[in-house]
Amino acid sequence: MTASDIAPGSAHPTGATHPLALAPVAGPASTVDGFVRQFLRNLNYERGVPLSASSDNDRYFAFAMTVRDYLMARWLEDVKRQRDAQAKGVAYLSAEYLLGRQLDNNLLASGLGDIAAEAMAACGIDIEDMRAQEVEPGLGNGGLGRLAACFIDSLATLGVPNTGYGIRYEYGIFRQTFQDGQQVEQPDSWLKLGSPWEFPHPEAAQTITFGGHTETYDDEGVTRTRWVPAWNVLAVPYNYMVPGYLNGRVNTLRLWSSRATNEFDLRVFNSGDYEEAVRAQTFAENISKVLYPEDSTPQGKELRLQQQYFFVAASIKDFLESLPEGFDLAELPERIIFQLNDTHPVIGVPELMRILVDEKKLEWDAAWQITQQCFAYTCHTLLPEALEVWSVDLLGRLLPRHLEIIYRINEEFLIAVRERFGDDELRLRNMSIIGEFPERSVRMAFLATVAGSKVNGVAELHSQLLRDKVLPDFDEFYPGKFTNVTNGVTPRRFVRLSNPGLSELITDAIGTGWLTDLERLRELEVYAEDPSFRESFASVKAANKRRLSEVLHARDGLEVSDGHMLDVMVKRLHEYKRQMLKLLHIVTEYESIVSGRVAAGDVTPRTFIFGAKAAPGYVNAKRIIHLINAVGSVVNADARVEGRLKVLFPPNYNVTLAERLIPAADLSEQISLAGKEASGTGNMKFALNGALTIGTDDGANVEIRELVGDDNFFLFGQTEPEVEALWAKGYKPSDFYQADDGLRRAMDLIASGAFSGGDRSVFEPVVSNLLYDDRFMVLADYSSYIAAQAKVDAAYQDQDAWTHSAILNVARCGFFSSDRSMRDYIERIWHTPPLL
Ligand SMILES: *Cc1c(COP(=O)(O)O)cnc(C)c1O
Repeated sequence: MTASDIAPGSAHPTGATHPLALAPVAGPASTVDGFVRQFLRNLNYERGVPLSASSDNDRYFAFAMTVRDYLMARWLEDVKRQRDAQAKGVAYLSAEYLLGRQLDNNLLASGLGDIAAEAMAACGIDIEDMRAQEVEPGLGNGGLGRLAACFIDSLATLGVPNTGYGIRYEYGIFRQTFQDGQQVEQPDSWLKLGSPWEFPHPEAAQTITFGGHTETYDDEGVTRTRWVPAWNVLAVPYNYMVPGYLNGRVNTLRLWSSRATNEFDLRVFNSGDYEEAVRAQTFAENISKVLYPEDSTPQGKELRLQQQYFFVAASIKDFLESLPEGFDLAELPERIIFQLNDTHPVIGVPELMRILVDEKKLEWDAAWQITQQCFAYTCHTLLPEALEVWSVDLLGRLLPRHLEIIYRINEEFLIAVRERFGDDELRLRNMSIIGEFPERSVRMAFLATVAGSKVNGVAELHSQLLRDKVLPDFDEFYPGKFTNVTNGVTPRRFVRLSNPGLSELITDAIGTGWLTDLERLRELEVYAEDPSFRESFASVKAANKRRLSEVLHARDGLEVSDGHMLDVMVKRLHEYKRQMLKLLHIVTEYESIVSGRVAAGDVTPRTFIFGAKAAPGYVNAKRIIHLINAVGSVVNADARVEGRLKVLFPPNYNVTLAERLIPAADLSEQISLAGKEASGTGNMKFALNGALTIGTDDGANVEIRELVGDDNFFLFGQTEPEVEALWAKGYKPSDFYQADDGLRRAMDLIASGAFSGGDRSVFEPVVSNLLYDDRFMVLADYSSYIAAQAKVDAAYQDQDAWTHSAILNVARCGFFSSDRSMRDYIERIWHTPPLL
């Protein structure tokens, strides 16, 4: 870096550096005095207010900007370092980033926490008040979006060159409220008061085109194709810093926002399609307006395809423009890997082909060689309905050239398949990128699999099922293409920030190294045998429960009862995740008390906490939310229960709430039907915070159980092969209803209207669905689940033994750091070593 590149005020030390400052370059805020000065400067000159007249929001902005200023020198330096080194980097393409609040994370990464606290104390400002001002950017639905956020955190911490690319939705995931127990969605206007963390660069906008037609032309004897689009939009990049943990590295998250272009497309105008052009311009800004709130069930809406192409095309252009003049495109794979986070960005494959063939005039085969090496694909599901398809009709209308390219990719692919397997028409039909039923459509997962250098699942079991069940023909055709990378979560946010008490306890025992080398948590195993450590661990858990109770009280007027086991199920509401199974357990416990078969005093006191948003159009899921709330109202108010069971459902589960809930939990509910949850990451967060898991043999639960040991995990339910066998035999849920008294009583109680003021019709659909359909085999796993819950109750009686198990869960789950996931991707898929 040349000194003149960066303003002296931010590049040079202003005095003695704090021990945690990132030598050799200290920012302006690296002393308490420096922090105060910079904070006041930002308040006065950026917000335009004196301290005495500033609002909480002004102070939050000035505070955030001060942290930002400190990181800025490093960011500029890192961007330049990456440009100069010309090293290979990762372009992570993801339609979702569920970031969570930024302030504390960036304070932690910069090591400014203590200085900032002192500085604010000196100003008489409560940091908590400022924290509360930040609205988390909810630019994702759930696990998939949160995974992207964990991954970019880990890449920065590892020092690997990475740009995260996505969409700056103006409205993120809706804010959930309840009215009479039913979900009501409110718009999430997270940008209403602005965001101190984003840097718009309108001058670097990309023009993204849509629609129109293609034509061929003669290019000095070569016939080429060009795309003549009908309308266009501007993609304006907004940059966000992604700081590594105390390593002075800062990567970039670049989110695109759509704007109307004001240029008039003369061609469209002259062709007489004036109305089409004007209409399209009017709708331009809609593209990045709102995140689709569907999780695992994409709707195939045109706007969604527009969003996908919009951000992927802008990102690829953005990257290509960053290459030096005269760059040999054959060397592209040595410079970049585009990682496809699920199928949402797969349209990038034909886009890169289009650029290479139509614009850069490469031969098709050469372009295909390059493209195949530049992409890798992560599959996130096993549910057939979650595998994205686009109707040929729609895709051809919106992206006519891309459809032609997809057809050609498919044609050549099927020729190769035929060469290999012969004229096996059924197999060819099964493998074709173009599906025929129920309508002609492009199977995006197939396109990604054909194009990707690697295809990975997200947990061992998931990757195995992907190869054996979802894409077996492809696995046979492409030996070595399929691999597994088990998901992970960032320990900075999900342990250090969310659970400071536990973090301090761990650091006191084994030092700080664990935060960037999570396997070192193994060193805690011996402490599980130390009674005084167990006592400290238990008191941290108790303190976390009290803190949660305070948060829930302030937020929703809810209270966690003292001395209760905290039993938590937080994740998107989806039938496959089986919140209904959890609810049947609660109703069973409740019914056994009110029927007098069990004395309330003999029930292990539990507070059940749910957190879950349902997609607005997902009727069954919304009914289940209603039922959970209805059961909660009845159970919590029934004196016969003597307060020993309590059901809480704080609305609007998001990252901020997760950070409070998870460290307080005793029991983690991971109860999806085996073979349905690809990995889960909530399960990892809980285990790392010392909750025991009750779970099925599904997703990453399998690996958690292997690591923590059977004695420290409550396993129940059918295995995936057992599920398959039961389907094959013919699953009749009513048989299970008939065979289990507890189940029958619980179902009958719901059906009786006991939770709907006597109105039997309200929850009749929920009951019928279980009795006559039950796609996710809730009834089949009920008895096994209830038996496992009895073991949980028994185990909880011995608090010291429970704590012992909880410590072993923490000690043995270091594997689930997203740093490890990133190392796996780097070694096996990306080949992008850290830039030193
Ligand atoms: C981790 C996380 C998820 C994913 O949870 P699963 O239990 O793996 O589905 C969803 N939402 C939020 C806010 C999270 O932090």
